[in-house]
Amino acid sequence: MSCPILPGSTIGVLGSGQLGRMFAIAARRLGYRVHVFSPDDDTPTGQVADVEIQAAYDDLDAVARFAGQVDAVTFEFENVPAGTIEVVDKVVPVRPGGQVLHTTQHRLREKSFLRSMGIPTTPFRAIRALSDLEPLGADDFPAILKTAAWGYDGKGQVKIDAPAGAASAWSQLDCDEAVLEQFVEFKAELSVVAVRGQDGSFAAYGPIENRHRNHILDVSITPTDLAPSVAAEAVEMARSIVEQLDVVGVLCVEFFLTHDDGLLVNELAPRPHNSGHLTIDAHVSCQFEQQVRSICGLPLGATTQLRPAAMVNLLGDVWQGGEPDWSQALAIEDVKLHLYGKREPRVGRKMGHLTALAETSEAAVKRGLAARQALLGAEVPVSAAIDPS
Ligand code: AMP
Repeated sequence: MSCPILPGSTIGVLGSGQLGRMFAIAARRLGYRVHVFSPDDDTPTGQVADVEIQAAYDDLDAVARFAGQVDAVTFEFENVPAGTIEVVDKVVPVRPGGQVLHTTQHRLREKSFLRSMGIPTTPFRAIRALSDLEPLGADDFPAILKTAAWGYDGKGQVKIDAPAGAASAWSQLDCDEAVLEQFVEFKAELSVVAVRGQDGSFAAYGPIENRHRNHILDVSITPTDLAPSVAAEAVEMARSIVEQLDVVGVLCVEFFLTHDDGLLVNELAPRPHNSGHLTIDAHVSCQFEQQVRSICGLPLGATTQLRPAAMVNLLGDVWQGGEPDWSQALAIEDVKLHLYGKREPRVGRKMGHLTALAETSEAAVKRGLAARQALLGAEVPVSAAIDPS
């Protein structure tokens, strides 16, 4: 095992969004310096990093210069080109490693990997031309056609209800390779945020329950009222996945929970995840601190939860009536506000989140939703603002 990368060292981050920002805040709290590399400037990560480098991911000279100034590199955005990672890897360790990115940035590779491990996934088949869709019958639908690469938050996905919809879905996606997944009538969506240290140590948060709106995460809640055996099974699946992929870092496993309490893995994200944002306020060590600890070869922190919590996303939609009235949400007890420093509040864009803590998960959700509602200038019903439990 290599020596730990100690506080005072410099960590490089590929990608400059909110995940990098919260990583950089955790890293700086632990005494590290942070350099961020992305094609943009004045970014959520750049605003809190020591150095912000603006260059294209395929500008390999700039990538090599960036790698030469740091002690290790991690990423907050998994669609970084493989060639960029190779260049960095020749200079300093990239964690998680390039093989993790290679598997998880392509849905077919990811699902085939999970299938080869015997992990249950949504039934799927590879689609490389319209002729792969044409022989399918009514029993194969409803289904979702997803691009194999570059998809996130429901982008690059089309639902097909019947064979007649296949041709227009294929032309709408406009890609060379896709995966057709059976549409799952799930009972709930869950995630486990897993962490694996350089010495093989393991820690996990969750399961966390995730509620989506328009394919974008809306609310995350933990603890859940899942049967303990199902919760343990989800964590064990996450453990086998990070061990098999040899992850050093954080990886989120997203699941569908079926009506008979079966677990199907929907997808993997080789980094901290939106559903784990509540760990900042609700757990002893948050997912971003764990990313720092794991990639630097330090002992992992405790994942003990201090209080039930709910995270409520703030999308650009919240700005539709003008700048939200922040004091309205901040006035609600045990609600924490996180904003990502993005200038343009576009509809559907993740601008920030609220975490609400309470005595029960249900009360935390109620409080978090009331706080978001209050941002829009609406009156907060007293029953929602004050935790009845
Ligand atoms: P993804 O980008 O694959 O995580 O999809 C975003 C969201 O779309 C998921 O969190 C689900 O809410 C929904 N979704 C994706 N795939 C399926 C599926 N096979 N069946 C039902 N809903 C799905």
